[in-house]
Amino acid sequence: MQKILSNLVCPICKGKLHYQSERQELFCYFDKIAFNVVNDIPVLLVDDARKLTEEEWENRR
Ligand SMILES: [Zn+2]
Repeated sequence: MQKILSNLVCPICKGKLHYQSERQELFCYFDKIAFNVVNDIPVLLVDDARKLTEEEWENRR
């Protein structure tokens, strides 16, 4: 599952998504947006995504 999640790309910018296992979210730092992961299934829907906070953006890795 980790491998699948790490190979996903953002549906908006087609860039790499960064899986946050402790939050169960996928971050796109380009769009400053976070997608949900529900029961190991990524929800790559822009309507269901949330904006990253400034802190999450600054702590990107
Ligand atoms: Zn993106």
